Amino acid sequence: MLTHTKLRDKFAQFWKTKSHKEIPPIPLVPKEDPTTLFTGSGMQQLVPYLLGETHPLGKRLYNIQRGIRTQDIDEVGDNRHTTFFEMMGNWSLGDYFKKEQIVWCWDFLTKEIGLSKSNLFISVFAGTKFIPRDTESISIWKSLGTPQSKIFYYGPDKNWWSRAGIPDNMPVGEPGGITSEVFYEFTQVPHNSKFGPKCHPNCDCGRFLEICNNVFMQYKKEKDGSFSELPNKNVDFGGGLERILAAANENPDVFKIDVLFPIIQKVETLTGKKYGKKFDDTRSMRILSDHIRSAVMLAADGVIPSNKDQGYFLRRLLRRMVRFGKNLGFDKEITVNLVPIVVEIFKKVYKDLPSKQKIIQSLFETEEIKFRNTLNNAQHEVEKFLSRPFSGNKLEEKYAQLAFDLYQSMGYPVEMFIEDVRQRKINLDINKFHTLYKHTFSKHQAVSKEGADKKFKGGLADNSEKTIRYHTATHLLHQALFDVLGNQVRQEGSNITSDRLRFDFSAPKKMSGSELKKVEAIINKKIAEALDVWYKIVPKTEAYKIGARAFFKEKYPEKVKVYFVGGSISSPQTAYSKEFCGGPHVKNTKEIGLVHILKYEKIGSTLYRIYAK
Ligand SMILES: [Zn+2]
Ligand SMILES: [Zn+2]
Repeated sequence: MLTHTKLRDKFAQFWKTKSHKEIPPIPLVPKEDPTTLFTGSGMQQLVPYLLGETHPLGKRLYNIQRGIRTQDIDEVGDNRHTTFFEMMGNWSLGDYFKKEQIVWCWDFLTKEIGLSKSNLFISVFAGTKFIPRDTESISIWKSLGTPQSKIFYYGPDKNWWSRAGIPDNMPVGEPGGITSEVFYEFTQVPHNSKFGPKCHPNCDCGRFLEICNNVFMQYKKEKDGSFSELPNKNVDFGGGLERILAAANENPDVFKIDVLFPIIQKVETLTGKKYGKKFDDTRSMRILSDHIRSAVMLAADGVIPSNKDQGYFLRRLLRRMVRFGKNLGFDKEITVNLVPIVVEIFKKVYKDLPSKQKIIQSLFETEEIKFRNTLNNAQHEVEKFLSRPFSGNKLEEKYAQLAFDLYQSMGYPVEMFIEDVRQRKINLDINKFHTLYKHTFSKHQAVSKEGADKKFKGGLADNSEKTIRYHTATHLLHQALFDVLGNQVRQEGSNITSDRLRFDFSAPKKMSGSELKKVEAIINKKIAEALDVWYKIVPKTEAYKIGARAFFKEKYPEKVKVYFVGGSISSPQTAYSKEFCGGPHVKNTKEIGLVHILKYEKIGSTLYRIYAK
């Protein structure tokens, strides 16, 4: 069996013999990147160098970077999704290119790791109107003995990389590149026709696992939509450590590798349950082993459980562990027992772990005890509720109300409630439930905001001025989001303090970094234009007719106050922003001053949050 320590050694040795320097990995919480909560790739720290800056360690680099994928938290439980992962990376900054990289990638996988060539499949860029098919990579793969039957062509949705996504979304001047991935075929996993008539490397049935990706940054977008060649071509390679280990050990279950399985074994001992026997138990064990790894790494990097941002993610991990430990019949403190296993697995790699073990254990224990009470009380309520017979009519509405009451009265998180429903195999329309829950939630927030506004009026003058400035800025932000993301944007809430504004909204997709920059630029442009902020009281129907943005339609009286930014009483149509609002606001946008977006994050399936100052 290939161990993770052996794999790390082989990887480092391999690149050292090819004159590469190791770059220190960055922390899990990136220091100066407001667009993301956690580090998600090895290249994150290299962006300026990939764009042409000189790196102090030279043009050939490698490392193994830790990362967290928050969006995978609900998917953990199958045989491959994890929230914590490690990515093995090597980079050429304007040095070697395809010929060297593909050969080295192949040598590493087949000679160093010993993966069987017959199990390896390749994906290459198929080509579009503006960018040719990647025939160069194809011929290199073939020269290494890969038969045509194992090379698959995919479009920009699969084999293209840029910070903005597919070529159409890229701004002029943005660099991008084609990718070529390697997949491992687990022949023991049969194709499932639910995923399509024929199996192929990107099929989701589980037969193929993408183990690494070669990104060749070679293009720059031009004004007419075409692409020119970059003067300096870069290579960005990323190989999933867990996935390569799974392939090396010929087992599609990543939880069987030695960075995870010792945790599973400990859970087996604690609970007396057997891994791989019952589906629900196996799922719970996978969740525990994944979450404890993420939690320990986050705590070691200084994250503390809290109600916001990184701290809230850690809190969710710990709460879920309490829950899934309980599902396995373990009603005592579980994290305390698992922390030492994680430390043992990783102590040679992350040398700060042993000295932090005690602190991490006590941090987790406090959190766990607190939540165990909540969980027990809430589940008691859920049981009681479910034992009452009711018609089944308006099921989602009743559940949304219960979920909200549990959240209000005891802080029971809605995702826990959904897990309750899931566990009882209750047939609930989750989307409908979410909409109703969000609605109840925001309605409540609006009411408490009214209360807060009243309190705030008696506050200090300078504070209130700042708050008014931030509040007016939310009108600009709201409209700027419409400008950039289109008509599906919905404001879900906002929260203003004297030192920042927070704005929650729903949208069909996450903004790219460049779109976020655009939003910020629009706001500052409108501020610089020194637009008048004024209002008019009009009948509700007229307000809708002129396109004023409303927050909760059903709550407004017959006559409403509409605030305009720009335009004038004689031509309100030309205003930049029109919004149902009570005020107060600044008189002119120039009073707002520069607005800077501090952070942008995803807080729900279609829910996003912006902090700005
Ligand atoms: Zn398949
Ligand atoms: Zn307002």
